[in-house]
Amino acid sequence: MRQLYNLITLKLKTQSYKHIAAMTIFSKIIAGEIPSYKCAENDKFYAFLDINPVAQGHTLVVPKHEVDYIFDLSDEELAEMTVFAKHVALAIQRAFPCRKVGMAVLGLDVNHAHIHLIPLQSEGDMDFRKPKLQLSAEVMQQTADKILKEFSK
Ligand code: 5GP
Repeated sequence: MRQLYNLITLKLKTQSYKHIAAMTIFSKIIAGEIPSYKCAENDKFYAFLDINPVAQGHTLVVPKHEVDYIFDLSDEELAEMTVFAKHVALAIQRAFPCRKVGMAVLGLDVNHAHIHLIPLQSEGDMDFRKPKLQLSAEVMQQTADKILKEFSK
C-alpha cells in the first residue's frame, strides 16, 4: 500500500514538474514564478515592461491563456486583447507623453502571443534592431508604477 502511495505521489510530482517545465517564460511571469514589472492586469490579460526596452515604457501585453501564435487566438480573445492593449497604450501615453504609442507583433523569440506597445516620438523608436536601453531596476519599477497608476484611473 505504501509503495502504491509513493508511486502515485511520484507520478503526480513528475507531471507537475513537466507542466512547469513546459510553461512559457511569460506564463511563469504571469504565475509570479519569475518577477516582472507589472503595468496592468485583468482576469484574461497581463501587461509588463519588456526587459530589453527600445524606449522607456516599452510594454508587453500577453493573454493569460497560453497560445504561441497571436493569430491562433479566437476572434473574441484577439478582440478583447486588442481592447485591453488600447487601454494600456492610453495609460502609457498619459504616463510618458509621446506623439503616439506604436503597436507591434513579432513573436519570434518567445512562443507566447504578445503585443509590444512602444511610446513613439519618431519612426526610429520602433526599430527593434537598435541597441536596447539599459534602465536601472529602480527606473524600471518607477516606469511600471506610473503606467499602472494611469491604467488604474
Ligand atoms: P519577440 O518574441 O516579440 O520577438 O520578442 C520577445 C520580447 O520579450 C523581447 O523584446 C524580449 O526583450 C522580451 N522578453 C524576453 N524574455 C523576457 C523576460 O523574461 N521578461 C521580460 N520582461 N521580457 C522578456
